[in-house]
Amino acid sequence: MTNTSVLSVSILPLGRLKLEQSILTYRQGMGTSVDVPVTGAFIEMADGEHILFDTGFSPTLHESDEYVPERLKKLVSQFGREDDIRHHLAQLGYRPEDVSIVVNSHLHWDHAGGNHLFKGARFISQDREIRFAGHPDPFVGRVYVPKQYDWIETMEVLNGDQVIKPGVALMLTPGHSPGHQSMIVRLPSGKTIILAADAVFCPANFDPALPPGNAHNPDEAVMSIQRIRMLGEFLQAETVICHDPELWASWQPCPYRYQ
Ligand SMILES: [Zn+2]
Repeated sequence: MTNTSVLSVSILPLGRLKLEQSILTYRQGMGTSVDVPVTGAFIEMADGEHILFDTGFSPTLHESDEYVPERLKKLVSQFGREDDIRHHLAQLGYRPEDVSIVVNSHLHWDHAGGNHLFKGARFISQDREIRFAGHPDPFVGRVYVPKQYDWIETMEVLNGDQVIKPGVALMLTPGHSPGHQSMIVRLPSGKTIILAADAVFCPANFDPALPPGNAHNPDEAVMSIQRIRMLGEFLQAETVICHDPELWASWQPCPYRYQ
């Protein structure tokens, strides 16, 4: 018997970003532009406490600068109606109010942008991330938008790895940001999915471990990549790489349900 209360996992396409290749692969591909997806995941739970892993861009991106300032909007290469997180939830038969728990892998603008749509939910972040996001180092500060998270009252603060529900675990994977976390989900079939978020940017980061170019701490980033790779092998898990340019070649987007 599989010990999980997960019913299904759906991978949500939440728009696209323009990046430089050297952001994906440390010091390799400078000057080469790449277009990458922005993704999140919806975890449907048997107890009705459904979980969202990351909220992508703010859906009001095109109307106001409130949640995404102009300097960051320039990086968005695609964000249409079909990329709105509410559209995906509706495809699955849910509304934003049906999300009980929002896990932010980290608090960068393209992962926490839709947080304000889920004001009734409980948020889960890592202590290190919350503290850093409150006062980031200036050289990486531009990717944090305090308005996306400074109003959150029901925040559960984790200090490292934790199982949050049967079949759903969070693992501290720092490096890209100080308190970055990844999610491990066990499906009813017994298969395991690792949602790596920004701990990994593309398969080339895996072997040999090569950090993404925008890591806050490249040493920690390499350790996190190795940990995800080891767990992937050990658990025979498939890893979802949030911004992998080739992501949709191997994963089916929502409304597909992985079970
Ligand atoms: Zn990030």
